[in-house]
Amino acid sequence: MEQNSLVRLNKLKGKIFELITEEADRLQMETYLIGGYVRDMFLRRPSKDIDIVCVGSGIQLAEAVAGNLGEKTQLSVFKNFGTAQVKYKGTEIEFVGARKESYSHNSRKPIVENGSLEDDLNRRDFTINALAIRLNKEGFGELTDMFNGLDDLENLLIRTPLDPDITFSDDPLRMMRAIRFASQLGFFIYPETFEAIERNKERIAIISGERVIDELNKIILSPCPSIGFELLEQTGLLAIILPELVALKGIETKEGVGHKDNFSHTLKVLDNLAKTSDNLWLRWAALFHDIGKPKSKRFEPKTGWTFHSHEFIGMKMLKVIFQRLKLPLNDKLKYVEKLVSLHMRPIVLADDEVTDSAIRRLLFEAGDDIDDLMQLCEADITSKNPEKVRQFLRNFRLVRSKLKEIEEKDRIRNFQPPIDGLAIMEMFDLPPGKEVGELKLAIKDAILDGEIPNEYEPAHAFLLKLALEKGLRVHS
Ligand code: ATP
Ligand code: MG
Repeated sequence: MEQNSLVRLNKLKGKIFELITEEADRLQMETYLIGGYVRDMFLRRPSKDIDIVCVGSGIQLAEAVAGNLGEKTQLSVFKNFGTAQVKYKGTEIEFVGARKESYSHNSRKPIVENGSLEDDLNRRDFTINALAIRLNKEGFGELTDMFNGLDDLENLLIRTPLDPDITFSDDPLRMMRAIRFASQLGFFIYPETFEAIERNKERIAIISGERVIDELNKIILSPCPSIGFELLEQTGLLAIILPELVALKGIETKEGVGHKDNFSHTLKVLDNLAKTSDNLWLRWAALFHDIGKPKSKRFEPKTGWTFHSHEFIGMKMLKVIFQRLKLPLNDKLKYVEKLVSLHMRPIVLADDEVTDSAIRRLLFEAGDDIDDLMQLCEADITSKNPEKVRQFLRNFRLVRSKLKEIEEKDRIRNFQPPIDGLAIMEMFDLPPGKEVGELKLAIKDAILDGEIPNEYEPAHAFLLKLALEKGLRVHS
């Protein structure tokens, strides 16, 4: 305990904390540091935002602190919530007055009254988030731990301070938060807390899509995202928010032949990728790369289980999923669609003899996302056979070096045709339409197949020859 206090005092140095202490004392408000900052301090994790609770008006304290921090301080006041945020040199400090909340079953909005520190700790989601450190001069650095949060931190446990059925029913988002913290911190959910999530899972439906996605994104971005997805599946939440993923689960056997469990495979791929990339959308692509497998699954007596075209079936499922989850329908969707639809291509290339033309086509279709695609494909290798893994990695290295060679030679990545549609229309006095499209396509194919280089002169000559065959005349 001694040592803990010393560490704590070290972490409470600096201008911000000094000012909070000064202003809180001047306003005669009991003031505490609380929430994620305290938790992360004990876990020795870097923390971003600072949460402050005071017995009194959080807005008043925030205004006093902001007024003394200097010019580069931003203050935002949320009167309706009784909270205020101070931004200072990249640090966000959230101020709230201690409150007591009571919920009625019919409404998601609690009745909020002013309260004591104890009342405020009672409304917190988990014991590890309900630790408070006193910031007033008298008793500076003292820890209040009403629910043995320190023990839970030590035992890596997520547990609600009060009856978990009430905690989760009051605010069902807390179920997602429990799983998110387990995934981010590598913690376990306390059995009674876990069971309460199973019982209350249906209530997740009353939470807005945006808030659910916030938590899902944090799970996906955690160091080992499979922890979160396994928990989502085991509690039954995943079947409600992403049934398409649950459909990947299971192994069917026919004539003594089984296929792999595509749910655990998918999570393995996501974990693999998490080791090499923190690109959120690449991670979403990993989560969805095999989403089309259940719909494409067939048993063929000669070959066994097949999943023909699962990458295209999967790609086509994404828009509906993105719409339902309130994920962005812009270039992010396009990016995930592209990666899902192309994820089988490098492996086919690695199997076959790698021709320049196949490499050019892949470069053309993947464009600037080619490196992300290769990362996804390498993460997709989950075979337990080390010889096979070595072989795949060797082939991918070959594909990568070929990609580099062809790209340096032909510049296909951001392909711009050397002769565009407008030029073709002018050349042969053609109206816009099918014929122009065909000529354009023929030029593109000739370049990708390596018949002509990606340059104006050869493309022009090629076009003239083709036009002659079609009986078109150059417009003078
Ligand atoms: P992080 O900022 O790393 O995501 P955090 O624990 O700081 O984690 P915040 O969302 O910033 O999480 O919330 C700050 C604190 O407010 C939490 O630690 C918790 O005590 C409390 N809290 C936040 N959301 C809820 C909620 N839905 N129900 C109860 N308490 C909550
Ligand atoms: Mg926080």
